Amino acid sequence: MKLSLMAAFAFTALLVTGCKVQTSMQGTSAELQSIFPKGQLGPAENFTGRAWNIGLVANDSTYNTVVGNVYFEPGARSNWHIHPAGQILIITDGIGYHQIKGQPRQTIKKGDVVKCPPNVMHWHGASPESGMQQMYIISNTEKGIVQWLHPVSDEEYSTGAQ
Ligand code: MN
Repeated sequence: MKLSLMAAFAFTALLVTGCKVQTSMQGTSAELQSIFPKGQLGPAENFTGRAWNIGLVANDSTYNTVVGNVYFEPGARSNWHIHPAGQILIITDGIGYHQIKGQPRQTIKKGDVVKCPPNVMHWHGASPESGMQQMYIISNTEKGIVQWLHPVSDEEYSTGAQ
C-alpha cells in the first residue's frame, strides 16, 4: 500500500516534470506548428540535413499544378535547383532562407510569400536555430517541375555568398 502510494507520487512528479519540459520547449520546438502531416524524409541527394515532404495536390492534366508542404529541420536546406515553370512558397511557420543565384540571401518567416521565377537557380531552407514550414505551389507543370543541382555548401548557407 505504502509502496503503491509512493509510486503514485513518483508518477505525478514525472507528469509535472514532463509538463515543465514541454512548456520550456515552446518557442524552440523543432517541429513548429504543422498544418499537414510531416510526410516522407526528402532524399539525401537533394537535401542537406533533414527535410520532410508531403504532397497535397498531385499533378494532373486538369490543373497542371503540384502543391505540397516541406518541413525543414533547423539547418536543413535544399540543393540548388531550378523550376522550369517557377514556384510559389507560402511560409506557415518558423524562420528560413531563400536565395536566388547572384542575389543576396533573403530571410523568410511565417506569413511570407515568395515567388521564384521560372528557370532561376535558387535554394531554400531553415535557419540554423529555427526550422521552417513551407507550402509550395508549382503551376504549369507541363514545362517541368524541378531540376536538382549541387548542394548548398556550408559557406554559401552561412554567409549567403553570391
Ligand atoms: Mn524551389
